[in-house]
Amino acid sequence: MAKCARCGSPLSGKHGYSKRANKEYRSQGYICNRKVVGACNQRSMAERYIETQFIKYLNSLNIPPHIVDDVT
Ligand SMILES: [Zn+2]
Repeated sequence: MAKCARCGSPLSGKHGYSKRANKEYRSQGYICNRKVVGACNQRSMAERYIETQFIKYLNSLNIPPHIVDDVT
Protein backbone atom coordinates (compact mmCIF):
# COMPACT_ATOMS: atom_id res chain seq x y z
CA MET A 1 0.00 0.00 0.00
CA ALA A 2 1.18 3.50 -0.77
CA LYS A 3 2.22 5.60 2.17
CA CYS A 4 2.39 9.32 2.81
CA ALA A 5 5.85 10.70 2.08
CA ARG A 6 5.53 13.13 4.97
CA CYS A 7 4.11 11.12 7.88
CA GLY A 8 4.07 7.50 6.69
CA SER A 9 0.32 7.00 7.10
CA PRO A 10 -1.54 4.87 4.55
CA LEU A 11 -3.02 6.73 1.61
CA SER A 12 -6.69 6.63 0.67
CA GLY A 13 -7.98 6.70 -2.87
CA LYS A 14 -9.35 10.05 -3.92
CA HIS A 15 -11.03 11.48 -6.95
CA GLY A 16 -9.74 14.93 -7.64
CA TYR A 17 -11.50 17.69 -9.50
CA SER A 18 -10.38 21.20 -10.14
CA LYS A 19 -11.22 24.08 -12.40
CA ARG A 20 -8.57 26.62 -13.21
CA ALA A 21 -8.22 29.18 -15.96
CA ASN A 22 -11.43 27.95 -17.60
CA LYS A 23 -10.00 24.44 -17.95
CA GLU A 24 -11.33 21.45 -16.04
CA TYR A 25 -9.09 18.78 -14.63
CA ARG A 26 -10.19 15.40 -13.35
CA SER A 27 -7.87 12.87 -11.88
CA GLN A 28 -7.69 9.97 -9.48
CA GLY A 29 -5.04 10.11 -6.85
CA TYR A 30 -4.25 9.33 -3.25
CA ILE A 31 -4.55 11.39 -0.14
CA CYS A 32 -2.94 10.93 3.26
CA ASN A 33 -5.33 9.49 5.87
CA ARG A 34 -4.05 11.98 8.41
CA LYS A 35 -4.58 14.90 6.05
CA VAL A 36 -8.28 14.01 6.01
CA VAL A 37 -8.45 14.85 9.71
CA GLY A 38 -6.14 17.83 9.38
CA ALA A 39 -3.15 16.16 11.02
CA CYS A 40 -0.85 16.24 8.00
CA ASN A 41 -0.15 18.86 5.38
CA GLN A 42 1.05 16.50 2.65
CA ARG A 43 -0.52 17.45 -0.66
CA SER A 44 -2.31 14.73 -2.57
CA MET A 45 -0.83 13.31 -5.74
CA ALA A 46 -3.93 14.44 -7.56
CA GLU A 47 -3.30 18.01 -6.52
CA ARG A 48 0.29 17.80 -7.70
CA TYR A 49 -0.85 16.33 -11.01
CA ILE A 50 -3.36 19.14 -11.46
CA GLU A 51 -0.72 21.72 -10.63
CA THR A 52 1.68 20.20 -13.15
CA GLN A 53 -0.99 20.30 -15.84
CA PHE A 54 -1.81 23.89 -14.91
CA ILE A 55 1.84 24.95 -15.17
CA LYS A 56 2.12 23.22 -18.55
CA TYR A 57 -0.95 25.16 -19.63
CA LEU A 58 0.58 28.43 -18.46
CA ASN A 59 3.82 27.59 -20.23
CA SER A 60 1.90 26.95 -23.42
CA LEU A 61 0.70 30.54 -23.27
CA ASN A 62 4.30 31.77 -23.18
CA ILE A 63 3.71 33.79 -20.06
CA PRO A 64 6.94 35.23 -18.64
CA PRO A 65 8.01 33.21 -15.56
CA HIS A 66 7.86 36.17 -13.17
CA ILE A 67 4.17 36.58 -13.96
CA VAL A 68 3.52 32.88 -13.41
CA ASP A 69 5.14 33.25 -10.00
CA ASP A 70 2.67 35.97 -9.16
CA VAL A 71 -0.27 33.77 -10.13
CA THR A 72 0.85 30.71 -8.23
ZN1 LIG B 1 0.66 12.35 5.90
